[in-house]
Amino acid sequence: MSAIDLVGVRKQFGETQVVRGVDLAVPSGAFLSLLGPSGCGKTTLLRMLAGLETPSEGEIRIDGAVVNAVPPGARDIAMVFQSYALYPQMTVAQNIAYPLRKRGVPKGERAGRVAAVAEMLQLGPLLERKPRQLSGGQQQRVALGRALVREPRIFLLDEPLSNLDATLRSHMRAELIELHRRIGRTMVYVTHDQLEAMTMSTHIAVIDGGVVQQFGTPQQVYRRPVNRMVAGFIGTPAMAFVEGRVGEGGALTLAGTRVATVDAAPGATPVIGIRAEDVRLAEIGVPARVGLVEPIGHETLVRLHCDAGIVTARLPGDTAVQPGEQVHFTADAGRLHLFDPI
Ligand code: ADP
Ligand code: MG
Repeated sequence: MSAIDLVGVRKQFGETQVVRGVDLAVPSGAFLSLLGPSGCGKTTLLRMLAGLETPSEGEIRIDGAVVNAVPPGARDIAMVFQSYALYPQMTVAQNIAYPLRKRGVPKGERAGRVAAVAEMLQLGPLLERKPRQLSGGQQQRVALGRALVREPRIFLLDEPLSNLDATLRSHMRAELIELHRRIGRTMVYVTHDQLEAMTMSTHIAVIDGGVVQQFGTPQQVYRRPVNRMVAGFIGTPAMAFVEGRVGEGGALTLAGTRVATVDAAPGATPVIGIRAEDVRLAEIGVPARVGLVEPIGHETLVRLHCDAGIVTARLPGDTAVQPGEQVHFTADAGRLHLFDPI
């Protein structure tokens, strides 16, 4: 059974439609990322799951029961906010213990559970500090601890890592994956960072303009993006889009060079999407001029300017090419992505 179902959910603030009809079934135990650009409606969706906003239309079900009218405190859900939302006058230990105190958990048990969470999140030495005496990363861990301590059925996390530096973010990503594996609870994770979504999730819902563009596993949205929005949003460097042309017999050409055979009428001009890792330099292929060359250690990213546009190639680190050089490239026909022209 799904842990959460959204059925035709809409939300508008005044005249502004923010969520425009979302249907989603979140499998029990999933780590679902709501992934999309800033302003696409992710936080609004999460707040509706938490009960902090009411849908303008549609139904939200938790374990099969409609919860539209159930207040946040009665949903057995914990939410971690982007802004941490810690109580400044309380110590770390008191902040983490707060949800238990509110529910009348006895003091002795509270102390034990706070200690267990503090241990898991390496907060032991900080328990007597106040939030203002903590770094951003430490505050984030306290906010996570406060959500974890209750052991709710469902965790909602709104960009919990966005205020952390790159090293800590990568560490916390690993921690969250491990945490999800260990406790096996359903997690809904909001992020605009496709790397976070790809690395942590069992499922991803790519959102744009208040609508789910694609729902699937990380591999599905990466390998089989259903449209240009999804294709361009997932993967770094971003997928290149260049104009193709279909000739007789379905011959698809890119800058005049045949790259694949497709099932399309002569004269069609599909957009060809190419991922950097699928591009290789070759003796025979699409002619291009080398633009920017970016060595990143074991690999080098190379911009290739051809008549149809710019394609980025992810090449071995020892590739010796110079800006301005004339080269040829190919891409695996089976790995090209075709989209309708704009
Ligand atoms: P995201 O989390 O994806 O960045 P949000 O859900 O926060 O997006 O916001 C989506 C849109 O809804 C934004 O344009 C935002 O300004 C608008 N919005 C969010 N909350 C409110 C509100 N309470 N009143 C009016 N507009 C809002
Ligand atoms: Mg947001």
